[in-house]
Amino acid sequence: MYHHVKKLMYTVNIDTPDPKFGNMLLEQFGGANGELAAAMQYSIQGLNCEDSARKDLLMDIGTEELSHLEIVGALIRMHLKPMKNDRAAAEADPLVAIAGGGGVSLYNSVGDAWTADYLKITGDLAVDLRSNIAAEARAKIVYERLIAFTDDRGTKEALQFLMTREITHMRAFSAALESMDKPPFSIGTIAPTPGLVDQYFNGSTGEGDEGETDHVGPWNSGHGLHLVQSELAGGEGLDVSPYAPQPGSEVTSPVDSTPVGEDVENTNGKRLPKKPKQKLAS
Ligand code: MN
Ligand code: MN
Repeated sequence: MYHHVKKLMYTVNIDTPDPKFGNMLLEQFGGANGELAAAMQYSIQGLNCEDSARKDLLMDIGTEELSHLEIVGALIRMHLKPMKNDRAAAEADPLVAIAGGGGVSLYNSVGDAWTADYLKITGDLAVDLRSNIAAEARAKIVYERLIAFTDDRGTKEALQFLMTREITHMRAFSAALESMDKPPFSIGTIAPTPGLVDQYFNGSTGEGDEGETDHVGPWNSGHGLHLVQSELAGGEGLDVSPYAPQPGSEVTSPVDSTPVGEDVENTNGKRLPKKPKQKLAS
């Protein structure tokens, strides 16, 4: 059940309306990383979530994002107000001024309509939580850029509030993912091919015109990875021997909402990893 309270979560005051800046702010109203997208992504993930504890988390944050949408909408309306009767201000965005009367609609800053394609909803809780952590990181950086492009004190203060809450959400989603007690790279129910999963493929080699070279870093060797050279560069290439995948061979979590394969062992609600699999003859 939703209930509207006639009070903003954060009271917005601006000093000087800036229609062009109001137009930029639309990115956080009807844009890909905006507040409606966040509210819909988390709330709909919540509707799908089988784990009541993390469903509560998704509904808490989804609901807060709707309150953010209301704050951003209030802020945008204050900045767009001159568009209602000032020709020069209206030129900042004819779509908003002529079709929308200087109010907010579900468009981004260049007039693209909001779309459900912005949402990342997979029905797998661990995967969705990762999407949400990334969504909060994107929202944070968009707010940071908006803050950099205004000198209006009241606007900066409201954006600082909204930006901060995205980091709070990122921390909550990260804690929820960690508390699922899955190994950090365990996704779904089918274990990846042993050996192959550890091979970092050096697919870009040689020297570029601007002195680019073959860099090495932790991404070649961290988390159990090792470097494999392409056969095109005289190396051994990736191990492409066939491997029989087995549902239930990956380590899952009791709160994992991933559908499981038919041969999964289930003991007291805990899914257990199966015995190691044999490679097929190549
Ligand atoms: Mn938000
Ligand atoms: Mn957020």
